[in-house]
Parts: sequence; structure tokens; C-alpha cells
Amino acid sequence: MTSLIRTRIAPSPTGFLHLGTARTALYSWAFARHFGGQFILRIEDTDVARSTQESVEQILQSMKWLGLAYDEGPIYQMQRLQRYHEVVEQMIAAGTAYRCWCTPAELDEMREQQKARGEKTRYDGRWRPVPGKVLPAPPAGVKPVVRFANPLHGVVTWDDLVKGPISISNEEIDDLIILRPAPDDALPGSLGIPTYNFAVVVDDWDMRITHVFRGDEHINNTPWQINIYRALGAAVPAFGHCPIILGDDGLKLSKRRGAVSVTAYEEGGYLPEAMLNYLARLGWSHGDDELFTQEQMVQWFDGTHLAKSPAQWDPAKLAWVNAQYIKQADDARLATLVQQQLHRRGLAVAHDATLVVQCALFKDRCSTTVELADWVALYHAAPEPSEEERAQLVTEAVVPALRALRERLASCEWTKEGVAAALKQTLGEFGLKMPALAMPLRLLVCGRVQTPSVDAVLALFAREEALKRLRGV
Ligand code: GLU
Repeated sequence: MTSLIRTRIAPSPTGFLHLGTARTALYSWAFARHFGGQFILRIEDTDVARSTQESVEQILQSMKWLGLAYDEGPIYQMQRLQRYHEVVEQMIAAGTAYRCWCTPAELDEMREQQKARGEKTRYDGRWRPVPGKVLPAPPAGVKPVVRFANPLHGVVTWDDLVKGPISISNEEIDDLIILRPAPDDALPGSLGIPTYNFAVVVDDWDMRITHVFRGDEHINNTPWQINIYRALGAAVPAFGHCPIILGDDGLKLSKRRGAVSVTAYEEGGYLPEAMLNYLARLGWSHGDDELFTQEQMVQWFDGTHLAKSPAQWDPAKLAWVNAQYIKQADDARLATLVQQQLHRRGLAVAHDATLVVQCALFKDRCSTTVELADWVALYHAAPEPSEEERAQLVTEAVVPALRALRERLASCEWTKEGVAAALKQTLGEFGLKMPALAMPLRLLVCGRVQTPSVDAVLALFAREEALKRLRGV
């Protein structure tokens, strides 16, 4: 019988939910769902100086927006300090961890000397208890850290779900700090803070995590973590390290190279299902499928077909994916999103039948709901056509026809059909072809010459507003 699959995502609340973390969250979620397992959210908030409540809220909001529902959590590491201390004490008693009283100055000196000898810098094990070794008396006034007694020899090996077999010699890695004392200004009785590599193991162990998907910046941490699992007599989960996401310049996707937070894409008018679809393909494939539902992803995602090499963030492709989802999206839902976008611009627009029809009319030509909001905004703020375009299109030859059209529009039936009839009659009266009239008309009413069918666009205006924009001719 296979054990219950349990995965987790463990973001640090030191900023927004990064796209790379969102992708590993998606993989962890889909993997758990595929196998009928559970997915857990843990907030790794032990970096007290950099963690913020605002960031926690952003992360929770982004998970919710993406629709990645978790079965347990959020679990906060800072609420588990007692547990880390308990495990540390057990490890000290078992001889797999020890206190180290080295001061920062001593560690600096150690490193300098190693560098001078051309050696790799590492902790030299001076406080590590070894049978027969006499340790110095702990210096007064120094609060010790606790270090993990990493095995001195042997090789750590795991079969990475993404990268395949990986081996690191224990001789390459030193005795990692697993617990730091509470800072001097902490309240009396405050507990020391575990380091990432230790807390992550205790948590994944306690939470019975079977598979860990995370970014490959953690590959170097994994040997320590595996050794700690072994020291605890705990089952080691399977690891899958996903390559970083590159920006379109081939360098690591970072804030300096455009938006990296999920929130920025929410605000930028992307639909969550499009984001998930795009993120899924960024490092995983199912044949040539580019567009798929979440149900299909869950059905297909079994931890295989994960890309070994870094994927490149491609804004044009994301825009294309989003456009496909916008085309299929329910018009009333789009109206809600457009209303939010316009609200951000300080434009209060009612969610009514007109807004819904406007969304239906323009959605096929939009990559984001921001673009859709740009179209809808045309109905609310009169555009200012450039003098140049105006001179080019609103010529003396066409002005009489525009005036005649304005007269007809003032009294015709105010529907797409009514507007179409007024246009047709005017074209007939002046012997003009549709573009000769439609182009200046679009420019005057919408401020741009490319729009969907002009009768449909016009009929969605309040008649008075449309006439007002034609009054200047
Ligand atoms: N807090 C770590 C991070 O955000 C978690 C890494 C892991 O999944 O183990 O990178």
C-alpha cells in the first residue's frame, strides 16, 4: 500500500509570492491532487527581521487568487519554536548536535586563516565533541549556537524528481548552525530561532511530507537536510528541484527585470486560470498541449516530464494564453474585473447590462482585463484625437456626411440595427463607401480608428454622449 502523498509549499513572508514559488506551489498542489493526497501551506517566518504581516497577507491572498486550496495551514514556524527546541535537545543528547561558543570574531579569523592557506572556508569543528577530545571551558558572556554534527565521511545521494541522481560527499559540507540564541534585546526567556535547514526538516517530518518540490537554489541545502532526517531516524521525502525561471534577457527573473510577484499579474489584468496554465508549462509539459484546464493538469501531473533546464519567462506567450482565457470567460465575470480595474483608475462604473455587453464586444481583442478596461473607459471619458489624425480623416469632403449622420443618429432607433440603418442611409445619400465615414466616426467618438463594428460600438453609448462627441464637426 502506498502511503498518503503529502506535499507543501513553504514561502518566507519577506515579500510578495514570487512567480517561481507560485509555480512550485502549483506543482505541489497538482501532485497531491493527482494522487488523492494533501497539500499544506507553511509560512517560514523565522527571518524575524525581514518577515512582515503584510507579506503573509499578500501570500495568502495570492494563493486564494490562484485557487490553490490547501488542506492544512497556514502553519507558522514562529509558533513552533518550542518544538524545534525539543528536537535540538534530543539531538544534543543523542550526540548528533552540539553547542558551539565561537564568537563572530573567531569565525572571521578562522575563515581568514583558511583563505590564507588556500583552503575552502568552513567551520573547523572546534566545538564538536569527539571521543578523547578535551573541549575548552565555555567562555563567559557568549551565547552558544547549536550545530548539527554532520557525518564526516560518506556520500549523500538522492534521486531528484527533476534532476535525476545527485551525490555530494560529506567531506564537502561542514557542521551547520541549526539554532541561534535569542538576540540580546529579546525578552527574557525568549527562545532561540532555528535556521532554515533545520526548521524545514522538523516541519516536513512532523507534517509527514512525502514529496518536496522547490526551486533549485535549495539543492545545496538538501544534503544537510537529508543528513538531519537520518540523524532523527525520520523518513526522507522525495525531492524535486525545479530550475529557476529566467527573464527574457536570459538572466534570473528578478524585480529589476519586470514583475515577479503574483499580485502584479493580478493587478495587470491576468486571469488566475491563465497564470496557472502558463506557469504549469514553464517547466513541465504534457505532449504539445498548451492550453488545458486545472482538472486536466491534475489528471496529468504525476511528477514526470519536469524540465531539467531553466525556462524563460515569455510575456508575449503569457499574453496569448491570457487572451485565450479572456475570450472564453463569462462576460459578467469580466465586467466585475473591468469594474475593479476602472475603480483603480478612480472611475466608478456600474456593473450593469451595458458593461457586460461592452465586455462581450471587446473581449476578443484583449490580452488583459486592463486592455478591456481601456476599451470600456472610452465610453466614460471623451477621447482626444490627435490634430494630425483629425485633419487626415475628418476632411471637408466628409464633414457634411458626418453632420447628416449626426441628425439621423439623434432620432433613429438606438440599437445596433438602428445605427446601422442610419449609417447606410447616409452612405447612400453621399455616395460614400463605409470606411470613408466609419473611420472619422470612430476617431471622433472613440479616439481611435480600429474598433469592432462601429454600429455595435456606437449603440453601447448613451445616445447623448455619442452625439456630444460628434457635435464639433
Ligand atoms: N522558505 C523557503 C523558500 O521560500 C522554502 C524552501 C523549501 O521549500 O524548502 O525558499
